[in-house]
Amino acid sequence: MFCVKCGKEERTYDSLCAACYLQSNRFTQLPDHLDLQQCAHCDEYLMDKKWVHYEDEMDAVYDHVAAHLMVRKDAMVRDLDIEAREIDRKSYRVHAVATVAHEDLEVAEETETIVRIKRNACPKCNKIQGNYYESIVQVRPTGKRFSDEEREEILRRAKAHIDNASKDSRDAFMAKAMQAHGGYDLYISTIGLGKTLARELVSIYGAEYKESASLQGRKDGVDIYRVTYLVRLPPYRVRDIVEIDGKLYLVQSTGPQTAKLRQLKHGDNHTVGIEHLRDVKVVGTKNDVVEAVVLGEGHRELQLMHPVSFATIEVRKPQGFVRTGDTVKVFLHEGEVYIIGN
Ligand SMILES: [Zn+2]
Ligand SMILES: [Zn+2]
Repeated sequence: MFCVKCGKEERTYDSLCAACYLQSNRFTQLPDHLDLQQCAHCDEYLMDKKWVHYEDEMDAVYDHVAAHLMVRKDAMVRDLDIEAREIDRKSYRVHAVATVAHEDLEVAEETETIVRIKRNACPKCNKIQGNYYESIVQVRPTGKRFSDEEREEILRRAKAHIDNASKDSRDAFMAKAMQAHGGYDLYISTIGLGKTLARELVSIYGAEYKESASLQGRKDGVDIYRVTYLVRLPPYRVRDIVEIDGKLYLVQSTGPQTAKLRQLKHGDNHTVGIEHLRDVKVVGTKNDVVEAVVLGEGHRELQLMHPVSFATIEVRKPQGFVRTGDTVKVFLHEGEVYIIGN
């Protein structure tokens, strides 16, 4: 075949030799400029209708340019190199080199554009800014107030729950956390997320749980409700020592329905419905447990040095207790010494 333009004899494309064809054809193109939306609050970038987090703005610029590179239908981009130079804070002059294949030809095409970063608010941050929420999780103590440590732990658990959910959904966020009535009011973006958070707290702490809904109005013919989840934590925590009918028990675990208790004196285990523990008396926490030196051991009892008076005392071993060290952990209560464990 002959090139109709230069007369060279070789394979032709639209009756042109490769050189003449490439000279008069382009396969790629970029718009004169591209706007890239970035949220001014969360710094995420809008990529094809989705908000995406980027560590490095250059990667966002690259993806945005790549997504807007127009390619002729009969060609394929094998590789795209871009070089971006900052014009000013938030705009870049971008030089792109696209390696394009057409039939058996390959050519590197250069093109330029300007990418402007437009700072805006994404819908999620708009909602957060506007204090948008659909549910409130009210976390409340029973009896004693939360310690600072515990208050922080509750907030940390709540935030972790929300963070985890937000990985899958941009609708998942906490609008605010307010201290209220010795606990927290957590304002949660959706009803579903408020519910899963409330349930997690219930299950961790063996808390009581109530929900109530109030009508907020109508939108597009649908009733809009706001739901409040009340999570009332029991008076006891795991590792607390509680008194029931004059006997002391160690709280071993708590759950949504029951708590596992170990009677300190005899070592027998009990599973108790949390409804029976609502008003239980907490006589000690893990901070009240002290060490006692073991002076001797018999078949059924230990000889210990009393941690306060240093007198030698004898304490019956709870069933199933096997000593592993030179000291044991004990709890002192009303003149008695209880063995907690190793
Ligand atoms: Zn030619
Ligand atoms: Zn945002």
